Amino acid sequence: MKSRILLVVALYISIIPHAASESVHWGYGDSEGPENWGKLAVDFDMCARGQNQSPIDLEAGIDADLPELEFEYENIGILQEVNTGHAIQENVSPNNYLHVKGVKFELKQFHFHSPSEHTVGGEYYPMEVHLVHQNSEGEYAVVGLLFQTGEPNELMNQLPSFKAARGVDPHSNPIDYNDLILERENYFQYNGSLTTPPCTEGVFWIVLKQPIIASSDQIQHYRDLLGFDNNRPVQPHNARVILE
Ligand SMILES: [Zn+2]
Repeated sequence: MKSRILLVVALYISIIPHAASESVHWGYGDSEGPENWGKLAVDFDMCARGQNQSPIDLEAGIDADLPELEFEYENIGILQEVNTGHAIQENVSPNNYLHVKGVKFELKQFHFHSPSEHTVGGEYYPMEVHLVHQNSEGEYAVVGLLFQTGEPNELMNQLPSFKAARGVDPHSNPIDYNDLILERENYFQYNGSLTTPPCTEGVFWIVLKQPIIASSDQIQHYRDLLGFDNNRPVQPHNARVILE
């Protein structure tokens, strides 16, 4: 009898943490928040144990004379704007690329974090967008763009929920993603992770230095759509170098 109980307990213990990570509820609140992500599922282990995690504070990078970024965004269009429960995300048309060291990474989606996830010299920005790219091996290259408050941003007015708010067809006149990239030469580069579970490492991170200007109303629009802060706190650099 005792061994059967032990068996049941063992099964229970082995089953629970192996719950498919897609079905594990995580968020930004206390018990399910960033401090506890690593405990929510075995697949989320890197969130707690990883040594190359994102986001980080970007400061004092090594001057590495980084190459000009090579974007090939030619098939513009947003297929769908979705609230994933963790961010407002724009799913984009296929066949838009970022070239990194001769490897082609396809743009999969972009999504918003508010406040920013990366900080620069300890300073937070009101919002950050992540352009998520993947190569044929499934590896990630993510471009982070920081937002600063100022004049309204015309490009943002063309995003689906802004159009819907004005009673305009959300999919008319697709935005040109190229206009999001204000510069291609001044950026930070480091090796990090996804900033959400499962916190997968080996992500090639690029954060542009030139912030995008948007009005506080536009930034608030995204905050209201999601309804809570969705930034993971900055993580230790450990042995990593930041290039700029
Ligand atoms: Zn993100």
